[in-house]
Amino acid sequence: MTDGGGRPGGVEMIIFVLNSGSSSLKYQLFDMRSEKVLATGLAERVGQPSQVGRLVNRPTGGAEHVLEQPFSGHREALDCVFDLLLEGTLESIDQIDAVGHRVVHGGESFTRSVRLTPEILEELHGLSHLAPLHNPANVTGIRACFERLPSAAQIAVFDTAFHSTMPPVSYMYALPYHLYTDLKVRRYGFHGTSHQYVSARAIDLLGRAAPSRIVTCHLGNGCSMTAVRDGVAVDTSMGMTPAEGLVMGTRCGDIDPAVLTFLMETQGWGPERIDELINKESGLQGLSGESNDMRDLTDLAAQGHERAKLAVDVFCHRVRKYIGAYAAEMGGLDAVVFTGGIGENSSVVRAKCCDGLEFLGVELDDELNQDRVRGERDISRPGSRARIMVIPTNEELVIARETARLAAEALVGG
Ligand code: AMP
Repeated sequence: MTDGGGRPGGVEMIIFVLNSGSSSLKYQLFDMRSEKVLATGLAERVGQPSQVGRLVNRPTGGAEHVLEQPFSGHREALDCVFDLLLEGTLESIDQIDAVGHRVVHGGESFTRSVRLTPEILEELHGLSHLAPLHNPANVTGIRACFERLPSAAQIAVFDTAFHSTMPPVSYMYALPYHLYTDLKVRRYGFHGTSHQYVSARAIDLLGRAAPSRIVTCHLGNGCSMTAVRDGVAVDTSMGMTPAEGLVMGTRCGDIDPAVLTFLMETQGWGPERIDELINKESGLQGLSGESNDMRDLTDLAAQGHERAKLAVDVFCHRVRKYIGAYAAEMGGLDAVVFTGGIGENSSVVRAKCCDGLEFLGVELDDELNQDRVRGERDISRPGSRARIMVIPTNEELVIARETARLAAEALVGG
């Protein structure tokens, strides 16, 4: 099995998977004997003491518990999470063997998951300039776990790591070379655990790891695509930051960089304004003027809303362009995989993304593509040379497996 990358199988461990954002904590608790999810939850408005935060804990098979109170910081929110887990899910916090932390940016230093030590944490903190919104928040969450769970192994799993196999022709920008050597300006890619999981599942469904040329499309609020040859990432659409590549909910993706200098000159905009423009005001939201949610836009487009239709069309056009580009890079195409909130749920988007790609052997079965079907499935026509698959992603499971693997190695190694 290659499902989702390195299934250790039947390990006696309880793993807490944590994704800590600047004002949120998202978590899942796993029993790795059966990879069963014991509880999931989300704390929001963390670190904003003047506001009432909200923590929702969902134990599997039990009643949802909502807690509303201010959370002064990640540590306090984490204390509340553990209090709720002790109400029926765990008998003691000491049952948690290891914590798997989603870390957004590993830079060039971290090309695989790593067991965290205070020194490595410092190194991670040093990468904050590469992901100023995300890495400091990840480090805050990690510190809180070190304090609260001092005997558990703390493992970092990086969003960038799966893409570390990209060759220089894919990751170099055509900028003066010293910007790469001095400042590490290059393409890194994100959503790595998702691309890793769905490409590994696709390989299972294809029945072979090699030769295989797979394009994975993670289409959610953030969107990225990856070219995966023989199980290894060879190119991806996001760059040094998640702003490059596809059209997203509120990000513009690929753009002529001189548009930005034009706006700086003519509008007097500085870096903060430009950042807001490309990350928060563009994409589906900016084009449609209505919503960043694909559900709203496909509904509006069906009612004849011109700009909603334009937003959906530009979004799908960009995906189609990347499928073609990646097929060219890999010398062919064996499978296209759709995942993420849009990729898993929107038959309209999938159909538009595949439209006109029959010359590449991509032939969609309209009946199989319908939305009433859910879960992992092949939606291509029987004779289609390239398979078209819908594979629900599971980033938390990849993190849990990586964490179990490294924690087990640490136990063996003493
Ligand atoms: P994610 O970031 O993967 O959770 O995806 C969230 C996005 O998926 C939302 O912003 C919506 O645009 C999109 N989405 C979720 N459900 C549907 C649906 N049934 N049809 C179209 N888009 C959807």
